[in-house]
Amino acid sequence: MGALLDRSDISVGSDQPSTPEVDFRAFFEATPGLYLVLDPALNIRAVNDAYCRATMTKRDEILGRPLFDVFPDNPDDAGADGARNLRASLNRVLKLGLPDAMAVQKYDVRSPEGDFEERHWSPLNIPLADSDGNVRWIIHRVEDVTGLVKRNAARDQIARDQQSLIDRLRGANRELAQANEANQRLEDDRLSLARIVEFSQDAIIGKSLSGLVTSFNPAAEAMFGYSSAEIVGQPVTLLFPTDLLDEEESILSRVARGEVIETYETRRVRKDGREVIVSLSVSPIRSSTGAIIGASKILRDITERKQAEQRLNDLQAEILHLSRWNTAGMMATTLAHELNQPLAAGLNYVRAAERTMQAADGENLLRVRELLDKAAAQIIRAGAIIKHLRDFTGQRSTDRTLEKLDTVLEEALALGFVGANVAGVDLSTRFDPFLPLVPIDRVQIQQVVVNLVRNAVEAMQSVERRQLVVSASGTDPGYVLVRISDTGPGLSPEVRQRLFQPFVTTKAAGSGMGMGLMICQEIIKSHGGRIWAEPHADTGTTFHFILPVSAVPDPP
Ligand code: ADP
Repeated sequence: MGALLDRSDISVGSDQPSTPEVDFRAFFEATPGLYLVLDPALNIRAVNDAYCRATMTKRDEILGRPLFDVFPDNPDDAGADGARNLRASLNRVLKLGLPDAMAVQKYDVRSPEGDFEERHWSPLNIPLADSDGNVRWIIHRVEDVTGLVKRNAARDQIARDQQSLIDRLRGANRELAQANEANQRLEDDRLSLARIVEFSQDAIIGKSLSGLVTSFNPAAEAMFGYSSAEIVGQPVTLLFPTDLLDEEESILSRVARGEVIETYETRRVRKDGREVIVSLSVSPIRSSTGAIIGASKILRDITERKQAEQRLNDLQAEILHLSRWNTAGMMATTLAHELNQPLAAGLNYVRAAERTMQAADGENLLRVRELLDKAAAQIIRAGAIIKHLRDFTGQRSTDRTLEKLDTVLEEALALGFVGANVAGVDLSTRFDPFLPLVPIDRVQIQQVVVNLVRNAVEAMQSVERRQLVVSASGTDPGYVLVRISDTGPGLSPEVRQRLFQPFVTTKAAGSGMGMGLMICQEIIKSHGGRIWAEPHADTGTTFHFILPVSAVPDPP
């Protein structure tokens, strides 16, 4: 092959003049493929017409010039690499002496006006070697595949467009499916909600912000005696007792502000005029945009529960009353004991006054008056005990007034110490300076304190260290706590178990009836409080009682 292009061999068959000579140059130049012949220095040494046409060049302008001067890369195309790839392929051909087929290259061509036109080429570089095997020429054959590439590109674009359409359709389908699912779920929710409303035991009533009934479930029909058809569209105030019409206004204005009205008890009226006691809660209904468009009310008829509660209260009151009478019976027995002390003390004072009068002189008269005052105080106390016993047996309601507990306790301590053997007893009081006022029957509470103090003082007779601490403080919200603490021997287990029961006593016959603590408990309980005893750390007992700060109703 290489020999064909040797200048000497070009005139094949020159020794046969009869045969017309093949003009290889004309043949080459006219051949329809695109051919360029390069020397090893990559100068253009031959080019055919088709190549010139395709690259918009003229043979005489390019022959002899370096390939890459004639065909540089398009300077406006930053990614242009046609020249570089071609140079690499030609170098491989020179080095290896083997043909090199290149992938399709984008290699723009320059028009005579100097503009570059987009072109795509499929090049093949073929070496022609001399008899020594050295590459003498490189035939650079290219095919202009611009049309093909562009068609491919157009086809790719169509394929891409179709794909993106398919993707968009798929996406839309998916969204549709999800929306369907969501709709289904909403529909399911709506149905189950509707079922809940329908089968609810509680009346559920919907109303508009203007107070018209918008829905009325079967439980509401049963509770109020209206059918849904007859009440929907009517003002919800049809269900209100006349004295509670204001309530609806306040409910509507609170709901309009978005408030939820927690369960409360109130009254409503049935179609037949009968009132029902209901527990009621109201919450706003919002539109899908969040605007408040109405309210839903849930009502439960608690008339029966209320009546049962009332019966129970009546019963309890009855029992309390009876137990008071019982207690009164027992108290009659202890009355002697309770009265014994102040009367005996009073008597002592009178006797002392008598004795003092026998040796009457001006100075002793003062003393006599003092003794008589003390006797009078004891007699007044005895009177108070009797009055209180009357109160207690329910002949009249007790006198509850708001009292300052520290004053009440101070007085009770003074009373408790009278006539008791208080020798060696060290009393200290600790009263919280911010004690709230408590609604109490002063005499009753003082009776409790006197009793507890006397017990404490008596218990401490048997011990050396006799410390009595009385304190009052605010405790759990709503209560005050009173503590009476002694250093006596503590409660024996038998007493401890039955402490507040009647006839529990360890005192010698005649000095104790075992009624005091039981009465204390009755009094504290009737005040809505609680009393209990606890041993304290070393030795001794602390009695505690709490009293509510807010009033409890008077016992009947
Ligand atoms: P009484 O004083 O008539 O015995 P109470 O009901 O007041 O009746 O007391 C019952 C018993 O509880 C007393 O006999 C005593 O044994 C015991 N007790 C009460 N207070 C104390 C106390 N602070 N320390 C030890 N024992 C006590």
